[in-house]
Amino acid sequence: MNRTMNLATNLATTLRDATELVAQGLAPAADLADLQTVASRYAIAVTPDLAALIDPNDPADPIARQFVPTKEELFVSEGESADPIGDDAYSPVAGIVHRYPDRVLLKLVHVCAVYCRFCFRREMVGPGKDSALSEAAYTSALDYIRAHKEIWEVILTGGDPLMLSPRRLAQVMNDLDAIDHVRIIRIHTRVPVADPSRISDDMVRALKVDRAAVWVALHANHARELTERARTAVARLVDAGIPMVSQSVLLRGVNDSVAALEELMRAFVECRIKPYYLHHGDLAPGTAHLRTTLAHGQALMGALRGRVSGLCQPQYVLDIPGGAGKSPVGPNYLQTENSFVGERDADQETRYRVTDYCGEVHLYPPRP
Ligand code: SF4
Repeated sequence: MNRTMNLATNLATTLRDATELVAQGLAPAADLADLQTVASRYAIAVTPDLAALIDPNDPADPIARQFVPTKEELFVSEGESADPIGDDAYSPVAGIVHRYPDRVLLKLVHVCAVYCRFCFRREMVGPGKDSALSEAAYTSALDYIRAHKEIWEVILTGGDPLMLSPRRLAQVMNDLDAIDHVRIIRIHTRVPVADPSRISDDMVRALKVDRAAVWVALHANHARELTERARTAVARLVDAGIPMVSQSVLLRGVNDSVAALEELMRAFVECRIKPYYLHHGDLAPGTAHLRTTLAHGQALMGALRGRVSGLCQPQYVLDIPGGAGKSPVGPNYLQTENSFVGERDADQETRYRVTDYCGEVHLYPPRP
């Protein structure tokens, strides 16, 4: 690959505005004014680790597509909304989203190491938004979790919780661990790929608690994000006994081919990360150019099943707009066969058409 690697060695700090992106050759100078308008609405950050992966000579670079803004973000399409998955409707107190009975989101910070151009919380994250829960709001959020004994799992999300200092994170983890009915603490993060150096010994120690099980969900969308440095950061977490799962977003021009998905899922499993979710792109404002269709997503998932083991299969899910939650969206491998077979009991009367990994259809149960 004819990749210009000078950014890897030259960049000491995160790129945070359109002028810097143009100066580094990552965005066209002719688009500067439009990109400044984009930047006034949605935060920009491209860390040195991710900037180093971008080939400035490739206008379709899948890493650039995720993090470098484009003027297409200025077009808001029908159905797109500032709160596409309906967090607000399920937020009983600041920082908490309680959508499903047994679990809550706890949104501690509204900043991230990088800002993804497709982010479903793009209206809520970034500098200039509330940067972190106030101490009073944090106390109220903990009180809410304490008072709701049905809460089995707390998911730290945001923003990126690993943007907290290890000291603050340790305090949060211990506060949650002290709530007896909280058995699972899950951390959603992009930091191990965006800024692997943050996964220090102190950070890993901060994540360890005495009682609750701690899981980390890593967000990555392209195999190239899993660099050697990222793999080392992930290995630190897994070696410390923290199980990991993945989250990815299906993105046009990033991973919307079966080869790209296969490479990504294999990379996760090689890193001891179980592929968990492949999200259909949310209806966040200005993101239509990055979404695929559901039909394309289903076709990709069907093709993936023919190429990699179950260990490498994520679940393809759609967050239903408005807050109704996640639904698996296929493809469906089982359909009822409509041939009625006579006077048998109800179970036997049901016959199915099952699709195998090659796309062949079989009847189940088989009958002579
Ligand atoms: S890391 Fe997550 S919360 Fe932050 S910008 Fe990306 S998708 Fe949004």
